[in-house]
Amino acid sequence: MFLLFDIGGTNMRIAVSADGQTLKETKTVPTPKNFEQGIQTIKQTANELSNGEKITGTAGGIAGPIDKEKTCLAKSPHISGWINKPLKTELERIFGCKVFLENDTATGGIGEAVKGAGKGMQVVAYIALGTGVGGKRVIDGTIPEDSFNFEPGHQIIVPDGNLCNCGGKGHLEAYIGGSYFEKIYGQKGEKINDPEIWSEISRFLAIGLVNTTVHWSPDIIVLGGSVSKSIPLEKVNTYLKEFLTIYPAAPQVVLGTLHDDAGLYGALELLK
Ligand SMILES: [Zn+2]
Repeated sequence: MFLLFDIGGTNMRIAVSADGQTLKETKTVPTPKNFEQGIQTIKQTANELSNGEKITGTAGGIAGPIDKEKTCLAKSPHISGWINKPLKTELERIFGCKVFLENDTATGGIGEAVKGAGKGMQVVAYIALGTGVGGKRVIDGTIPEDSFNFEPGHQIIVPDGNLCNCGGKGHLEAYIGGSYFEKIYGQKGEKINDPEIWSEISRFLAIGLVNTTVHWSPDIIVLGGSVSKSIPLEKVNTYLKEFLTIYPAAPQVVLGTLHDDAGLYGALELLK
């Protein structure tokens, strides 16, 4: 039995897989702020889902950058109690098997590239639109090593523009990140009904995607994350076609199809 997890800032999703291909049982529980409680919750939920059957492999993602050795969370505004705590070592001790840890945008991207909207495509740009903006370039179902992390949310789209949470100015995230909506557009994302505002958000997103496209040259762009569901895709594709003048054709921008399970499917791939 394999154990998969996706630890977010608010909730964590835990699943088991018997065949290494499909998810058998899935459960969502609130993410404890305290690390030791978090480990206990994962252990309990795993026992429940597996009916006590032995876990032979574990993999998953966590919200935020992880350390270079891929053993723990390195930074996070939401679950600071987990930072630098021995997540991988503790899970290996509890389950007595190997544990693979990744950043949650990476597992989401791999999931969508292998089993979801990017299936069959060689180069997939996965852009996660949530409270912030993240992204990964997935090539043949894997993420090539990079020095730090690709950070498409922190590309400059307006020189000296809006202040970003990272301290920079004019970053993409500071225009289309969910946590900025109230400040910029006067209301929370789920309350925004004005098509003009969504058109504006689509235009900023398209500018970011043009930059991402000329650097990554993807076959397809897959959007994930809570904000992606509200984005008018047609508008984004139209703007992208208009702005991307150097290529004969623009990659298609689509929504992810695995939704909340993208990270769990990506975790399954890590076990292979
Ligand atoms: Zn930034």
